[in-house]
Amino acid sequence: MSSPKKEYLCKVLVVGDLGVGKTSIIQRYVHNIYSQCYRATIGVDFALKILNWDKDTIVRLQLWDIAGQERFGHMTRLYYREAAGALVVCDLGRAATLSSVHRWKEDLDSKVSLKNGKPIPTILIGNKCDLMPFGGSSHNVEDLCRELTFTDCHVTSAKENVNINEAMSCLIKEMIANL
Ligand code: GDP
Ligand code: MG
Repeated sequence: MSSPKKEYLCKVLVVGDLGVGKTSIIQRYVHNIYSQCYRATIGVDFALKILNWDKDTIVRLQLWDIAGQERFGHMTRLYYREAAGALVVCDLGRAATLSSVHRWKEDLDSKVSLKNGKPIPTILIGNKCDLMPFGGSSHNVEDLCRELTFTDCHVTSAKENVNINEAMSCLIKEMIANL
């Protein structure tokens, strides 16, 4: 008889300024769909993705999307509670959304941490690379990633499905290593 599978439940927060593509990234990753306009629901939305990570591990990812609260630039402690990982998303074509990244990272680090006190694994996402000439320079994103000690960074397109799975896999690996 085979041994029972290990099962992990991971709460993942997706934060970043309005319009950077948070909802699009989640929809692409979970349902493999893309649309020009999502209903801007007010509040918090959840999406669940269940992955057969390896032959004896199941990962249940709970992705937390925000809508309407972006303009405050921060979230409540309750929202962050027990998160295992996070994505901070910016729009490569809008410099202001890159400037906001430090605020989102600070907000995360001040309101949630691992049991050992370390920051939760957090990936910086530079989204909409399809709009950037020559695929988009990722220098700024890489600099930010180093400066603000993100776990890693990825340049993505929810529209054209570029690097979304890679970014999520990277986050899942880190989260599992910390569980
Ligand atoms: P949110 O406010 O962060 O949830 O952003 P949305 O997911 O609602 O996206 C805002 C707008 O940007 C929508 O019109 C999306 O269709 C568009 N968008 C999202 N991701 C991409 C992308 O990768 N490339 C392009 N060109 N547009 C995108
Ligand atoms: Mg949204």
